[in-house]
Parts: sequence; structure tokens; C-alpha cells
Amino acid sequence: MTSPTAHLRGAHRHAPWVSLRCAGGHAASDPALWRCPDCEAPWELATSPEFDPQAIDTTTWSLWRYAAMLPAVPPITLGEGGTPLVRVAVPEGEFLAKLEFLSPTGSYKDRGTAVVVSHLRALGIEEAVEDSSGNAGASLAAYAAAAGVRARVFVPAHAGAGKKRQMAEMGAEVVEVAGGRGAAAVACRQDTGAAAYASHCWNPLFLSGQSTCAWEIWEQLGGSVPDAVVCPVGQGNLFLGLARGFATLRRAGLVAAVPRMYAVQSAACAPVAQAWRAGWPQPVAVDEGVTIAEGILTSRPVRGDEILRVLRHTGGAAVSVADDEVRAAQRHLRGAGLSVEPTSAVAVAALPLLRDQLAGAEVVVPLTGSGLKTL
Ligand SMILES: [Zn+2]
Repeated sequence: MTSPTAHLRGAHRHAPWVSLRCAGGHAASDPALWRCPDCEAPWELATSPEFDPQAIDTTTWSLWRYAAMLPAVPPITLGEGGTPLVRVAVPEGEFLAKLEFLSPTGSYKDRGTAVVVSHLRALGIEEAVEDSSGNAGASLAAYAAAAGVRARVFVPAHAGAGKKRQMAEMGAEVVEVAGGRGAAAVACRQDTGAAAYASHCWNPLFLSGQSTCAWEIWEQLGGSVPDAVVCPVGQGNLFLGLARGFATLRRAGLVAAVPRMYAVQSAACAPVAQAWRAGWPQPVAVDEGVTIAEGILTSRPVRGDEILRVLRHTGGAAVSVADDEVRAAQRHLRGAGLSVEPTSAVAVAALPLLRDQLAGAEVVVPLTGSGLKTL
């Protein structure tokens, strides 16, 4: 592996950057380090702005309306955020679908990528690498193109052909790695060279971008939050971004309680659901397995302990669903006029399992990735 500081060769080391700190209290000496070199923990923002409703820029129709609550960098934007919240009927009743698949590259990843790439650009970084099953790589490819940053994406060989084409068409170099999703991550980190590792799994700014989804939901519901949110979970980026976003609303005194957060995994790869059932404080690594929900094949999430804490503190739960249930949910959504990729349908597939817990509740389900990705 290259030395940590190699990431910043040619970059403006003294550009303004957010200060990063790990849970062990170590401060980052270099903004492009992807994790704490002392204890290998993920970075968190040492300080982050509190939510101030007066600071929302209501003239901006993208997530940058919340710029005052995000790291202060010139935005690289493709108009991400501002996704619709629409009511969908299911046999269990109805839910509110947050149409994240209408983001610029067709997946929810664009919120986090926009914030991460804006930050990298402000640092003067000229090349970024990432590992991805497809959507994060496609998102990075697009925002890197918009920022004038070179992108190289490491994908597992099983990644969908459409997603690989999407990355390549946006000008990213796509590196296929034999083995699973974990092998792509290892290969990526061994071959960063002078590039920054723009990891959607590790970079806390990615979660900051995802938190804007919670703030939008709060605005769209007229200044309130739903009773429950049901979310697909692999690494849990959207799940944690939403949970952190709702928590900032409560800290600001804008809501009395946060939604119950439900994590849904594929039965083929369900480390969070396993740990939840067993009462463990963090997930243990499981085999990646094989599933049509390829976007959430994560053998052990980076912030698995935080996911489990959110489940406990909000009164939620983790469940897993089989591919047949996912296919049925995907068909149901198509019947309602909504085309999503299989990974996005796992949360809807879990609604029958959660029927008792969600009875009478206002439920939001983010629909994360476009069905066009897997046609
Ligand atoms: Zn540390």
C-alpha cells in the first residue's frame, strides 16, 4: 500500500478542509487519509454544523439548500437532491416512497458523492479511486467528470454490465476484479497511487450528503418526520445518513422524536440482521453469498456498530428477505408505475414481515436505484 500522504501529491495541502477525528479521539493529520492510521477506525467530522431552519436556502432546489449545514466548499453539483415523496399502495396498507432513483445518475449515491467530490476538488485533488458494485462508481464517474477529476473504479467481476457501461461512458477507468465485493475494495486500496480514495463506505462526508435526504423528508412532511423508515442496508450509508439527519433535527428541537429505523438485508448476506437477532454489539463478517440484490452485498459494514445502535435507540429492527420476495416486491412496484433495481426492492419486500410493527404508522421507504440500471 502507498504511504498515506501520497494521496495528496500535487494537491493544495493547505486548502480549507473539515477536521476529521476517529472514535478513538485521534485527529487526522491529512484530509485525504481514508481511515485513522492509529486504530483503523473510520473518520468522523470533528465538528459539524447544527441544523438551523433559518439557514435553509429556499431559493436553491437541490441538496445545496442545506449548504449552511454541510462542509463549506464550492459545490460540484448536478442538481442532486430534491427527490419526490409519493404515496404508494401495498397489500399491507401504504407507504411514502422517497424517489432517490431520480437522482442525476439514477441512484441515491449522488447526494454523498456530490459532497465528497466537492471536498476533494476544494483540496485540489486531481484523481479519485473508489470500489463499488456499480452505483457508487457510476456516481463518482459523473461527479468526477463534472469536477474535472480523473476517476478509477474497482468493481467485482459480477457487477452489472449496465452499471459498468455507465461508469465507462462518464470517462471513468473501470477495473474489474475477480472475486467478490470485498476483493474489489482490497484491490482498490492497494492501487491508489497518487489518487484520493473517495470511499462511500469510509468517508464521513458521504454520510453528510445522505443526511440531506432526512432534512428533505422533514420539509416535505411540513416540518415533521415519519413514524418509521424502512431502508435497504449493505454498508448502511443511506440508513446512517438518514439516522444522523433525523438526530440533528431532534437536537435542534424541531421534532420530538426520531423515526424508528428498520434495516433490510438480503438473506444471502445479512450480517446486520444476524447480529440484531443475536443481540451482538457489532456484526461479524459473513460470506457475501449470491443474490439479485447485488448493491447490498457487504460481508461486514464499516459502521456496523453504529447501525445496531441506531436500531436499538430508535426502536427499529433488522430483517432479511429472500430473492423471491424481492422479485415480488419489484413486480409490485412496477405495477404501481415505479421501476427500481432489485436492491431497491428489498425494503418493500420486508413490509409484509414488519406488518405488525408498522401497523398504523406513517412509513417512508427510500427507493434507491433506478430500474433502468438493470434492464
Ligand atoms: Zn484512531
